[in-house]
Amino acid sequence: LIDVDGLRKSFGDNEVLKGIDFAVPAGSVTVIIGPSGSGKTTILRSLNALDLPDAGIIRVADETIDFAGSYGKADIARYRRQSAMVFQGHNLFPHKTVLENVIEGPVIVQKRPRAEAVADAERLLTEVGLIEKRDEYPDQLSGGQQQRVGIVRALALQPKVMLFDEPTSALDPELVGDVLTVLKDLAAQGWTMVVVTHEIRFARQVADQVIFADHGVVLERGTARQVIDDPTHERTRQFLRRLL
Ligand code: ATP
Repeated sequence: LIDVDGLRKSFGDNEVLKGIDFAVPAGSVTVIIGPSGSGKTTILRSLNALDLPDAGIIRVADETIDFAGSYGKADIARYRRQSAMVFQGHNLFPHKTVLENVIEGPVIVQKRPRAEAVADAERLLTEVGLIEKRDEYPDQLSGGQQQRVGIVRALALQPKVMLFDEPTSALDPELVGDVLTVLKDLAAQGWTMVVVTHEIRFARQVADQVIFADHGVVLERGTARQVIDDPTHERTRQFLRRLL
């Protein structure tokens, strides 16, 4: 469902991505691990066109862009709609209720009928165990609950691909489990997901593919068993030793 071919990105003189290639089959989970600054977030942001790559041909579901070629705003808008991203912190609107946060994208951006958006939002909030919070404001929720609302808000956009950027790293340890459970449920439902995380246990349990990014390249790629339990490169071993 995703094909990344020759993805490159520099910020000024800093070449952050130096030719990234990988593919993500439909209905599978890819976990990206790697040291700080290796370019993991930039890969995710490129899949959602929050960062525009300098080069690379990327297909996300039904849309393909050659970033070294010519493309317009409408192309980017169509490409971006294929995926939805969940960020590290909670990026909820503080002055809107949980329900209003979730229906904002569908109603305002996608112009879907409000009643339909509300019904969808209620179904999704029920799935993550937060329906009783629908009329509360974000600051009345725990960090883990806010993050689950963030996930529902992304799901409500009905993307083909879900992107998660360290979805648990801003949470207190006791709240991490609830959010990971939601991610596992989504994986079991057949969502195509790309997850940047340091949660190695989660990667072992859920990932169909693990990518180890280092200094802007994919140093290793394979099953969790291959990359985590039996890495080929010393850099990967060093990184994992620090985490495990
Ligand atoms: P971390 O695990 O710390 O989040 P990461 O692997 O996700 O790191 P990125 O966030 O992709 O790494 O950043 C890779 C490099 O790109 C870093 O050196 C960062 O400083 C740089 N970078 C990222 N975004 C920008 C930007 N908007 N402008 C300039 N430099 C940036």
